[in-house]
Amino acid sequence: ASPMTILSTNTPSEELRRVDAAHHMHPFTNNSELGDKGARVVTRASGCWLTDSDGNRILDAMAGLWCVNIGYGREELAEAAKRQMLELPYYNTFFQTSHVPAIALAARLAELAPGDLNSVFFAGSGSEANDTNLRMVRTYWQAKGQPDRNVIIGRWNGYHGSTVGAMSLGGMKGMHEQGGVLDGIEHIDQPNWWSEGGDMSPDEFGLERARQLEEKILEIGADRVAAFIAEPVQGAGGVIIAPDTYWPEIQRIVDKYGILLIADEVICGFGRTGNWFASQALGLRPHIMTIAKGLSSGYQPIGGSIVCDEVAEVIGGVEFNHGYTYSGHPVACAVALENLRIMEDEKIVERVRDDTGPYLKERFESLGDHPLVGEVKIIGMMGSLALTPNKAIRAPFTSDVGTVGFICRERCFANNLIMRHVGDRMIISPPLVISRDEIDTLVERARLSLDETLVALQAQGLM
Ligand code: PMP
Repeated sequence: ASPMTILSTNTPSEELRRVDAAHHMHPFTNNSELGDKGARVVTRASGCWLTDSDGNRILDAMAGLWCVNIGYGREELAEAAKRQMLELPYYNTFFQTSHVPAIALAARLAELAPGDLNSVFFAGSGSEANDTNLRMVRTYWQAKGQPDRNVIIGRWNGYHGSTVGAMSLGGMKGMHEQGGVLDGIEHIDQPNWWSEGGDMSPDEFGLERARQLEEKILEIGADRVAAFIAEPVQGAGGVIIAPDTYWPEIQRIVDKYGILLIADEVICGFGRTGNWFASQALGLRPHIMTIAKGLSSGYQPIGGSIVCDEVAEVIGGVEFNHGYTYSGHPVACAVALENLRIMEDEKIVERVRDDTGPYLKERFESLGDHPLVGEVKIIGMMGSLALTPNKAIRAPFTSDVGTVGFICRERCFANNLIMRHVGDRMIISPPLVISRDEIDTLVERARLSLDETLVALQAQGLM
């Protein structure tokens, strides 16, 4: 190992990049390519703005990884963490003990969650929470005397996390190809009309995709299916908002066959869609909701499963042999509670629903006149632009999928705007506290980046 270097935010960027390349393995990254290029080092942040080690100020239209709902730099959250660390920095809830932050947060989540979702199993992240769900629904059916009801259906291009269980529930082919996918998990196609809708109208296509769930249930055998898991709006898949016909039909099928519905609200929850949970916006009645990210606005790692009364009762009747050292971590719970208090006191969800959400929608949709932009989709504070060389026929680019998206992402980066690409879709998910002025800046920088992308594509003969 190399000798210890003392690094700080005052260390020159080149040195930070060098040490980063030498020792730090980045997730979902070709680290040798990144090492050659050098990572951008983010040193501090406030509101919707990041500062990097070269002193650039960058508008973060992704809220970190879809998580900093309340914006950066809220001292109240730091104070809540400090208070809790001094009072009780850690205790577990395994062996007949509990503590105030976990009790209070579980009760608060039961209040916020729709229907009879009244019980919470805590985890350290969204991935862990989905692993909990995987084991919980199988344990549920075992406890009900139906151990063969153990198949879970997910969706291609869905994302539920990176642990073995969560990755298997998800439908990211690039992840599956690297191995380790669990047995007993099946996938149906996603409701992505722009890319896969062919000649169908969005409504016809929404029904067709929802009915794949029924076909899959019948193929597996209705008495063998434990649960269906889906994101109300696919996030990592490219902010795919299903056609209006999709969710009512899914709910009908779930009800008809009596299978459990798991709504993965890791991105969609805590105000992202202008509702506390997207299930409320879309009329879904999940038995379990996965939560993480916005729960603490990313200030502490915490996730969980909010579970309906029936499932909680059945699971409560057995010893569920499952849990994490950091399930209900007191500091994370205290920070989450403070985050939820601020969101409520400052009416952040209402502001997204009634004011900044509609404004962002209007401004973001104005990008639809750009020659590169086909479909524009947005709900609340999550949106996407499908890039295309010919919008009339929803044509894909002839280059490898993601080539153009990456070019556009790099233009955004150069223009001090963080927008992500998924394939050739550009996506945004800004902090929920973004102001109208900042929305204007976001859209102006996005348009400039699209213009520059168009020039680059023409120069490189990519369109
Ligand atoms: N579910 C969804 C819908 C997600 O978007 C993510 C993370 N992007 C996860 C689960 C996994 O959460 P984590 O990264 O906290 O494990």
